[in-house]
Amino acid sequence: MLAGLLLIYCIKKDIKLDLKMSAILNTYNRKKVSFTKGKGAFLYGTNGKKYLDFVQGIAVNCLGHAHNYLINSISKQSKKLWHVSNAFIIPEQEKLAKRLKQKTFADYVSFQNSGAEATEAAIKFARRYFYSKGQPRKNRVLCINNSFHGRTLATIFASNSKKATEGFGPKVDGFDHFNFGDHKSLEKSITSRTAAIMVETIMGEGGIKVIPNYCLVGLRKLCNKKKILLILDEVQCGIGRSGKFFAFEHAKIKPDIVPIAKGIGGGFPIGAVLVNKKVASGMKPGTHGSTFGGNPLAMSAGNAVMDIMFKKGFLSNVTKNGNHFLKGLHKLKEKYPKIIKEVRGKGLLIGLCLYKDQTKFIQKLMDNKLLTVRAAENVVRLLPPLNVTKQEINLSLKILDKVCKNYR
Ligand SMILES: *Cc1c(COP(=O)(O)O)cnc(C)c1O
Repeated sequence: MLAGLLLIYCIKKDIKLDLKMSAILNTYNRKKVSFTKGKGAFLYGTNGKKYLDFVQGIAVNCLGHAHNYLINSISKQSKKLWHVSNAFIIPEQEKLAKRLKQKTFADYVSFQNSGAEATEAAIKFARRYFYSKGQPRKNRVLCINNSFHGRTLATIFASNSKKATEGFGPKVDGFDHFNFGDHKSLEKSITSRTAAIMVETIMGEGGIKVIPNYCLVGLRKLCNKKKILLILDEVQCGIGRSGKFFAFEHAKIKPDIVPIAKGIGGGFPIGAVLVNKKVASGMKPGTHGSTFGGNPLAMSAGNAVMDIMFKKGFLSNVTKNGNHFLKGLHKLKEKYPKIIKEVRGKGLLIGLCLYKDQTKFIQKLMDNKLLTVRAAENVVRLLPPLNVTKQEINLSLKILDKVCKNYR
């Protein structure tokens, strides 16, 4: 009897110890939940609960969890060839690059593995362009304060938020900044040393802040006038998220360099930089590379995502469902004007801006089996898979309504 009790005590203590003594470096405030499997818009918790997942790995799983077409594509490739060096021609990579070229402004594509790597490569390509033109001092990049371009040393100082840069000095030089929406300081900050302006077409981590179309048109004109490059970071807002393949297409403009990642692999890590001919002229063999970038297994995922995304009606459906979602959220804002301050976003990149800190709100949503993720400025991000159904959106609206109703 006593031995039995002792055993139970030890087991319980062990479990507790396990959770407390995680071997994972403490860089995330993780929610106390984990999952056994996913299907479409849903995740199945080890606690037996079924969650509506409107995080989707932060806009990564654009086709939801366990999409059959993606599974088949990766399975098939995994039996043939996973990885070969970029020292050789990789046909699957040629195929994806050609398709990105056909569907977008791009003339050339360079594959990486993540968003930060892609944005950092974008910065390199911009500098190298002016270097190759005999203007090596034209190497500074102008960015928005508190933006998000990744977590590498260069990209944190490009993003320039206190949270990301604190304790990581010395500062990586080569970046200047202006505030979101401050046109005057933007123009004033451009000097003879400015090589490029780099902004997120829609700021994701910064709080789902959409740059209006007329500003994007103005940005393009300004870059032309000053003879500098326009880099649009579409890592989060690209790949169909806004209802068009790229968010800048809404403004009918063409950037010079576009880093992408998140959605393009449908959950498989892929990053890439798309460039026009002009920028491509600055690069030659040996100037940039990546061991893993664009390997055949990753490319099978990217090509499968493209197959589905460019099926007739896919992107217009994102717009339709996005508008339905936004309409429902605006109604909630009217119903709960003391809780919801603002509804932001485009397509299925949506932010619910609250009056107060959103941590408790997100927890309440999770208690009611809706998963969301935070962004700056008290924003709750809603990122459904791009093939979400109207019923799933309505379910999320019901949960949001319930949480608002009981919120103190
Ligand atoms: C997520 C994100 C990145 C960084 O991507 P990682 O894959 O996490 O390195 C860069 N830019 C934007 C706009 C992002 O949303």
